[in-house]
Amino acid sequence: MVFVCFDRRGTTTSLAPQIRHRRYIIGETVKYPGQIILCKPKHRLGARWGAELAVARSNCPLIASAEPPPRAAGEASTADSMSQQPCPSKRGDGSRAAPTNGNLHQQLCLAIEKAANWDRLQFASSHDQASASRLPSAMTQTSFVPTTSEPGTGLVTFLGTGTSVGVPTIGCNCSVCQGGHPKNQRTRCAITVRLPAGTLLIDTPPDLRTQLLRERIGLIHAVVFTHEHADHIFGLDDLRLFPFRLEHAVPLFCTEVVEEVIRRAYAYAFSEREDTHPGATPKLQFQRIDPQPFEVLQTQLTPIPMKHGPHFEVFGFRIGDFAYCTDGNGFSDESIDRLRGVQTLVLGALREEPHPTHMSVDQAIEIAQQVGAPRTLLTHTSHKLDYDETMQRLPAGIEMAFDGQQVEISL
Ligand SMILES: [Zn+2]
Ligand SMILES: [Zn+2]
Ligand SMILES: [Zn+2]
Repeated sequence: MVFVCFDRRGTTTSLAPQIRHRRYIIGETVKYPGQIILCKPKHRLGARWGAELAVARSNCPLIASAEPPPRAAGEASTADSMSQQPCPSKRGDGSRAAPTNGNLHQQLCLAIEKAANWDRLQFASSHDQASASRLPSAMTQTSFVPTTSEPGTGLVTFLGTGTSVGVPTIGCNCSVCQGGHPKNQRTRCAITVRLPAGTLLIDTPPDLRTQLLRERIGLIHAVVFTHEHADHIFGLDDLRLFPFRLEHAVPLFCTEVVEEVIRRAYAYAFSEREDTHPGATPKLQFQRIDPQPFEVLQTQLTPIPMKHGPHFEVFGFRIGDFAYCTDGNGFSDESIDRLRGVQTLVLGALREEPHPTHMSVDQAIEIAQQVGAPRTLLTHTSHKLDYDETMQRLPAGIEMAFDGQQVEISL
């Protein structure tokens, strides 16, 4: 039996000696920082944290439910004899044993309180999504999701669903920002689409690195941009690692306007000066797009031109029976026609009140009804929209999207 412990900042921590010499091991992987998980691994530690955490999540109770270890077993055999015990989470009545004096739980607490950098200890179930989501995202990787899909299918993953400043919003004390509801934790907008020929990313928001780590997406094959706003392009430098594995520059599909802004914002990536070392600057290769359908990773994308307030144009994209249309608040008849027949439609919807450059919830509902998709998901939502409240008031077939949500699509 192994204890996997995480410190609150998601960095490596060490186990106090009185625990270490009992062969309990403190881990260093950080899916749920601040949590302690009791698990019975299939494998010893090392490069196999993924397997261990999978076991932990499926089997593991709170540390507080751990039964006391057999006291007579002695230091050297304690871990072995404990491994014979059934997992406490499988108690017949489903209850959790309360910690008792001198039991393992207390020993572990004492040890951890002595360990450096633990400002506050949280005991929470690994199933407690609310507390997990308040903590930093995973910063280490043990496994990656596949980069390709079965022929004719795709998998959309919402990397972020929040408006340009994200939710929670810095300095805000509203109940959405402070409530800790996992679906009110919304990073800046982007999706990935796993396609048969590779993984496509739509937009590079400032949260890109943590989003890709969170979703365990290890490689991006191509990027398509909706428009040039900061919340959609300012994570571009995080693509710097991918050319090493692709063995070519990352293709960026965008309009002339977007390319100009990216060239200005990332001037160092397009400088004539030779790189001092490999990977010093992102290797990017622009592919110009216009409102005509185009091919990326052997899949056809159809742009959905939209107005984004009075000064900006933005593209949505249709991919098979799915369409992603964020930030727009003006649709031409032709754009609506291009959306007809989609099974899943994603629309930007900022808040209930009207806004000069984004759709309100009611405006998004109206577009959803014009298109008539069986399912519409709202993204780019601000802290003015509480997930649960908004879900209750939305008509059937329309939902709030959330970070990490996945949608299977047909190409
Ligand atoms: Zn935006
Ligand atoms: Zn707020
Ligand atoms: Zn925008």
